[in-house]
Amino acid sequence: MSRQVTVVTGGSRGIGAATCVRLARDGHDVVLGYARDEAAARGVAERVRSVGSRCVAVRADTSEEAGAERIFDTALEEFGRVSGLVNNAGVTGPLGAFADVSTEDLRRVVDVNLLGYLLCCRRAVREMRGSGGAIVNVSSAAATLGSPGEYVHYAATKAAVDTLTVGLAKELGPVGVRVNAVSPGITETDMHAAMGDPDRPVRAASRIPLGRAGRPEEISGAISWLLSADASYTTGTVLRVAGGM
Ligand code: NAP
Repeated sequence: MSRQVTVVTGGSRGIGAATCVRLARDGHDVVLGYARDEAAARGVAERVRSVGSRCVAVRADTSEEAGAERIFDTALEEFGRVSGLVNNAGVTGPLGAFADVSTEDLRRVVDVNLLGYLLCCRRAVREMRGSGGAIVNVSSAAATLGSPGEYVHYAATKAAVDTLTVGLAKELGPVGVRVNAVSPGITETDMHAAMGDPDRPVRAASRIPLGRAGRPEEISGAISWLLSADASYTTGTVLRVAGGM
């Protein structure tokens, strides 16, 4: 059987980085997309290779058509047609009340979290229809919590990701492409520092039924399972991995 070839966007840090390494262990060759942090991307690519999988890192902004296309063009050149996509690259902008969010931040969050996911899904589907494949969209528990006072606009893009997942799963089931989402709760990554509150995962612990924030490796396991043969009858699912939140 040929190896799985999987694109992971936002693979240089956090949940995406853990996913690249987990997928490598589970037998995938990995195409790692990232935006800026070349050193981090290179480090993750080395970890993927150290467990015996192939890896190519591609610097590309997924919110732009040319960027999304370049990730898949590189995949095709290096490893052949992709069998998997993990749509993961995401941003929140600063934490705060909705009335104070700048138009620039609103646009960026929609562009990266929604348009970027749409562009990557579209290209993946164009390659997978006929040969089959699986997509996992990384959503967020925020999609159902709404995240008042923090980032309602971000939560809204994640709710759209859930709808994208359900609709695409129904459209693509007949052509052998499965589409699912994983919805993490608060997870220990750089994202909280980027939104202006590095200690957020620690402070949130008392609100989480399991008493702590998640670790990226606890999210990547769910992602890898959804891409695996064990999930062959699972599509259109939004799998919450949020410590009970
Ligand atoms: P993170 O640590 O901030 O990493 C974000 C990743 O996305 C980085 O690899 C970054 O690349 C990449 N990226 C950002 N903008 C991009 C763009 N325009 N084009 C391409 N790549 C881009 O984030 P994370 O916490 O792991 O989050 C990953 C996903 O999980 C996101 O979709 C997020 O919404 C979701 N999520 C996270 C949490 C949480 O608590 N952390 C909870 C629920 C859902 P560079 O390194 O090059 O900047």
